[in-house]
Amino acid sequence: MPHRFFIPPAWLTPPTVSLSGETARQIKTVLRLQPGDEIIVLDNSGLEWQVQLTELRKGEVHGQIIGQQAASNEPALALTLYQGLLKAEKFEWVLQKGTELGVSRFVPTLCQRSVAGPGGAQKQARWERIIREAAEQSRRGKLPSLEPALPLAAAIQQASRPTQPAPLLLMPWEEAAGLTLKMALAETHPPAVGVFIGPEGGFTLAEATLAREAGMRLVTLGPRILRAETAAVAVCAAIMYEVDEWISTAF
Ligand code: SAH
Repeated sequence: MPHRFFIPPAWLTPPTVSLSGETARQIKTVLRLQPGDEIIVLDNSGLEWQVQLTELRKGEVHGQIIGQQAASNEPALALTLYQGLLKAEKFEWVLQKGTELGVSRFVPTLCQRSVAGPGGAQKQARWERIIREAAEQSRRGKLPSLEPALPLAAAIQQASRPTQPAPLLLMPWEEAAGLTLKMALAETHPPAVGVFIGPEGGFTLAEATLAREAGMRLVTLGPRILRAETAAVAVCAAIMYEVDEWISTAF
């Protein structure tokens, strides 16, 4: 399987492509690819380009485009993860695993019990790199987007704006009873899902009430309380399983 790289669209100049920066270093120095080797580049437009490397110099790699096709491997379900901000390494883990599992949008949210803040431009760039590397490694066809951090109330408002198709909005809440994730998904067979996970300290009653009043479904994940990052990854996996995304495409 050729290595895959998400690149800025400007690097593509059919019939050739020129790669620089970290991507060029990765190809030449880390992977030690040679002229003649093939890679796949993705410009996040929904296309993937098959490229044969022609020239590898320090900081600069050139190739010839030898094929093009629709980018594959994207889930049919559009899953947005509204994740309460967490301490750095936990939040990064959620971005990485969420990307592998097929999340299409991440929205960091600031909650009443948030300890961690959204951070500056440097953190944003680091998060984007983590998402890109996870998307390349897991063979995603598109990069998940990383939205600017929002206070929870604004995120709820944004999520519940009428859109086509209307997403199923879920808030797993440790105090919720009755409605399970499975039931909520089975009721609607949604084409899009937005899921809100709390920070380390969980959602407050006021936050859960706000979500309920906005029409979101409060669901339980069972009697065991999961850490926020476990809950995020477990819910993404359970949703993808439940909507039959875990199928073989090799037929
Ligand atoms: N307040 C809790 C921990 C919150 S867990 C405490 O410290 O006791 C962090 C987030 O994970 C929650 O806000 C919720 O979104 C989700 N979560 C974890 N376990 C859950 C469960 N059993 N049911 C529903 N949501 C859960």
